[in-house]
Amino acid sequence: MLKYNYQQYEKNISIDTIAIRFGHNRTNEQEHSEPIFLTSSFVYNSAAEAAGKFSGDIQGNVYSRFDNPTVQIFERRLAACEYGENCVATSSGMSAIMSLVMGILKSGDEIVASRSMFGSTISLLQKYLVKFGIITHFVQLSNIEAWEKAITYNTRLLFAETPSNPLSELVNIQALSKISHYYNTWLVIDNCLCTPTLQRPITLGADIVVHSATKYLDGQGRALGGAVVGRNILIKEIYGVIRICGPCMSPFNAWIFLKGLETLNLRMRVQSKKAIELAKWLEKHTAVEKVYYSGLKSHPQHFLAVKQQKGFGAIIGFEIKGGKMGAWSVIDAIKLISITANLGDIKTTITHPSTTTHGKLSDDQKKESGIKDGLLRISIGLENIEDIRSDLSNGLNNLY
Ligand SMILES: *Cc1c(COP(=O)(O)O)cnc(C)c1O
Repeated sequence: MLKYNYQQYEKNISIDTIAIRFGHNRTNEQEHSEPIFLTSSFVYNSAAEAAGKFSGDIQGNVYSRFDNPTVQIFERRLAACEYGENCVATSSGMSAIMSLVMGILKSGDEIVASRSMFGSTISLLQKYLVKFGIITHFVQLSNIEAWEKAITYNTRLLFAETPSNPLSELVNIQALSKISHYYNTWLVIDNCLCTPTLQRPITLGADIVVHSATKYLDGQGRALGGAVVGRNILIKEIYGVIRICGPCMSPFNAWIFLKGLETLNLRMRVQSKKAIELAKWLEKHTAVEKVYYSGLKSHPQHFLAVKQQKGFGAIIGFEIKGGKMGAWSVIDAIKLISITANLGDIKTTITHPSTTTHGKLSDDQKKESGIKDGLLRISIGLENIEDIRSDLSNGLNNLY
């Protein structure tokens, strides 16, 4: 965990360059690519130096649960990409969220959160945090009034994921941050689906951004990781949890994510472009009831997406006529696209949310979240779009 002044980069250097070059201070070996420090501990020149490093009087590496030079390069680079004051990396996206709530909340505190969030995030809030006396109120993501109404004297945190997965619902981050700060709460945005190349929540008033690096930051489905970026006073508390409890990022995974960041901008731009093309095609297909994608003019929040994001991302939800059987038959006719719940990969993936990612929700919860039986979710990769279309056509054309 390191603090630095991000303003100097905001003005002069574009995110393309930050994501490729920032954060690496070359060692005496003059390496060009970032080095991997696969070591659990570090040695000292004397007893006094060891004591000084343990007490914090002398700066430097002690143990990789506390700090690791490769992980620090990733932390500096991601912080710079998000325009955050500070960053701490974690072993997964979920451990980032867990460390965040452990670090800044206590028993009796309350959270207001979007109903449309990653399934494990909802489970963490609903199933585990209540055991420690932390209560969460769930609201509809786009409904700013509902957020305000749910805030009580004990609310400390507002938590949203925008755009949502799989329905591409948005919240106006600027409007939410105004409410958040009026009521003296912290605003947390999960920026996994857009990444800093398409959306920088901190510049719109968010206090903290969380990431599952497992998705687009890696981009090739290789490693699990996460990060929390934002206000230094908060990151310091979260860092304390990671240092003591141990959900830290592996140096090897940090190196993977550094390589991922180098092509992030390129991938997000191309994958978003392909997604628009596919969404337009799906919208016209007779077997498709409805397409959920903020890049379409038919999307109710298209204008907000244009204003808030630099692109629409590469996740599309689409509803097949014929409910679950229709949706399953499209999946079962697929030959190329990977049938898997993971997203953010350069390989296109498809899943049936109501029986996989959202399978644990009750029928009422599915209804509330808009997860219908005929809904499919596709995460567009980098393959040729004609090949993706033809793969989907197999199943779709059999239906209608
Ligand atoms: C995948 C995901 C997470 C959790 O990340 P892991 O790395 O799988 O722990 C959190 N939020 C969103 C939006 C995700 O897609």
